[in-house]
Amino acid sequence: MDHAALAELLFSDITKTIADYEAKYPPRDLPEGAVVTRIAPSPTGFVHLGNLYNAIGERLAHQTGGVFYLRIEDTDQKREVEGAVEAVIDAMNFYGVHFDEGATVDGETGAYGPYRQRQRKELYQTVAKSLVLRGLAYPCFCTEDDLKAMHDAQEAAKENYGYYGKYAVWRDRPIEDIKAELEKGTEWVLRFRSEGDPANMVPVKDGIRGEVKVQENYTDFVLLKSDGIPTYHFAHVCDDHFMRTTHVIRDESWLATLPIHVQLFDILGWERPVYCHTATLMKMDGTSKRKLSKRKDPELALSYYREAGFPQEAVMQYLLTVLNSNFEEWHMANPDADSRAFTFSLEKMSTSGALFDLEKLDNISKEYLSRRPAEDVYNGLLAWAETYDAALASRMKAKADFYTAAINVGRGGDKPRKDYGNWKDAAKFLSFYDPETFVREDGCPENITADYKREILTRYLDTLDFADTQEEWFAKVRQLTDDLGFAVQPKKYKKNPELYPGSIVDVTNLMRVAVTGRQNAPDLWEISHVLGEEETRRRLTEYRDA
Ligand code: GLU
Repeated sequence: MDHAALAELLFSDITKTIADYEAKYPPRDLPEGAVVTRIAPSPTGFVHLGNLYNAIGERLAHQTGGVFYLRIEDTDQKREVEGAVEAVIDAMNFYGVHFDEGATVDGETGAYGPYRQRQRKELYQTVAKSLVLRGLAYPCFCTEDDLKAMHDAQEAAKENYGYYGKYAVWRDRPIEDIKAELEKGTEWVLRFRSEGDPANMVPVKDGIRGEVKVQENYTDFVLLKSDGIPTYHFAHVCDDHFMRTTHVIRDESWLATLPIHVQLFDILGWERPVYCHTATLMKMDGTSKRKLSKRKDPELALSYYREAGFPQEAVMQYLLTVLNSNFEEWHMANPDADSRAFTFSLEKMSTSGALFDLEKLDNISKEYLSRRPAEDVYNGLLAWAETYDAALASRMKAKADFYTAAINVGRGGDKPRKDYGNWKDAAKFLSFYDPETFVREDGCPENITADYKREILTRYLDTLDFADTQEEWFAKVRQLTDDLGFAVQPKKYKKNPELYPGSIVDVTNLMRVAVTGRQNAPDLWEISHVLGEEETRRRLTEYRDA
């Protein structure tokens, strides 16, 4: 076979060589050990949690004086949606992930572009042509039906699937046959001519897993599709080489095709990047673990966390907890430190199915929010409400001091309250404070009859004095409880319930329902002081007379 003739036949318009691109994209001038890494999402409009998970690469890059960039893998035009690049950038920005270079909303920055793969067609074809010249790639004119027949034959013969050996029908065809097909205008793909032997195991360095051994690739996989656009495999190798990526951080599902990637790097004589295959995000479904699915699990979409209003730092803390076996301990020792202060290491990343658990996220987030000053919580809630609850945002702005005081109830001290882990829940939780949204959700405690209800609330209103300290106030509540024959000590009531109409728990629950509409609420004295005397009395009277 005359390889030069074939290369000209297939790529007559390609005049550049690999050397031209080597010169155009020189090795980066960075300090020793600097990490250059990226995320490389497809512009499908769906930004998933895994994108943020792998954007952890930003930390590695910036910890080492390296570069973190954004590449858009838009080789599948059918799946592309408008605004997808904006969506990725916006989502990453929201979590404080910043790119040093790469695609931007209206273009790109950096010297290693273009950063959108469809704009790099000439580069891929130049590399493809060089492979044809070396006898390492050839066109294949098989139709989908041909490939289906091949697959069926392999199934029947219980042989490995794929285009190889006797099934690789275009591998050694004379150039005349190829010319004839091209003249007919038959569609073709470019395949790699593999000399791999399935008996060989190839060692590959994985930054997270250590050395992994993969079976050598023996199939003639596709480099360029019929539209001349590369497959992921070929684009990944060309781009990560010419963009001078040192670390490829990607989901472990790519381990399956890793043999193809290392084979290409080796054949092209390019240094392999350090692969870092991150554990796939899993969840419990009943008693078994399964992959998070785009169709079934709304929490796979990064937008889910923003809409529900999980604070960004809580999400980062959660991800680091799932990702890195050192983080939890570090966080315990530095509970108030920003997670950015944590030194991230690849070796400590988990290697198998990271179990994702919304409840755990909520707990981390509750803990995080309980330690923030009220002003921060106010600002976080307001920022969320501006987008997701306009009515709340306008109430909060009209009554900023009132809302801040409400948020401050139960804050501080050794055991701050943990009532909410996200802004959606915070909005619900805080709704009883504002007279505009106050509703009674709970009914009267069971032990309180209509007569007792009237009696207790009348006496409470009579003795209520906003000048009292919390202790004085509580002493009066105890007195009232005792005066009406209720047990002041719940323990005593539990022991002999027949001796009392109820206990102080019933009495204070009644007061809570009157003032907050709920039996479970923070400290009543504090709440009353946030509401003010007039509103507190109004609610007590209204409930007494209801
Ligand atoms: N486009 C690929 C994906 O979204 C990128 C994988 C990689 O990081 O190399 O899965």
